[in-house]
Amino acid sequence: MKLGLYGGTFSPPHMGHVRAAETFLREYALDRLLIMPTSMPPHKQIDAHDDPRHRYNMAKLAFEPLCRGGRCEVSTLELERAGKSYTSDTLRELYDIYGLAGEHKIYMLCGTDMFRTLPTWHESDVIFSLAHIVVARREDDDADMIAAQKMLCERSYGAVVDVLHLSPLEISSTEVRDMLSHGGDPDAVILPQAVEDYIRKAGLYGTSGTE
Ligand code: ATP
Repeated sequence: MKLGLYGGTFSPPHMGHVRAAETFLREYALDRLLIMPTSMPPHKQIDAHDDPRHRYNMAKLAFEPLCRGGRCEVSTLELERAGKSYTSDTLRELYDIYGLAGEHKIYMLCGTDMFRTLPTWHESDVIFSLAHIVVARREDDDADMIAAQKMLCERSYGAVVDVLHLSPLEISSTEVRDMLSHGGDPDAVILPQAVEDYIRKAGLYGTSGTE
């Protein structure tokens, strides 16, 4: 069983996420890919657009074409977990659920920014031992930084790290939110149309809303 994990806030999910997930599923011939919207820390002030229900619904819409193939699903595992959600706990839970044993059995996709901070995450040693890290470049000139960080993680933590073969799509959820709140109309190359329709209907990110 080749299991892939792709976690994120997905507020909102954009085509950078979708392309990376598609390539990940194909390049690693995964049997199952779990898209994992993360929960928010309980103490954090939640804006309407960070509402887990909206982020889950938008992820379902964004990844729907990929999920249609039957090997990909949007998971509620972290959203349903009470309290703080740690990636190390998620990996342990997935090992249990899927009956996995040994090291580096879950392929975990993350972008350059997340990869850069990974050694500082809670129980990063557990993450590096259970997951095989796959990094998606977010900008063309990320390559040197990734190579240096890969060497460090391999030497210091016994990590296994690969880089996804995909040219970067330089877009972030922050940029999409800014565009929408300033009355912009993001192209479908950036934001899946179904997600944009959902955002406008629900009035998220400063759009007027029709609900
Ligand atoms: P924000 O701008 O709100 O920080 P984001 O665009 O970084 O959001 P997240 O939901 O935080 O999106 O990202 C989830 C995962 O997807 C992270 O590992 C992140 O690095 C990765 N990612 C985000 N955008 C891209 C992109 N354009 N290409 C490849 N990976 C990406």
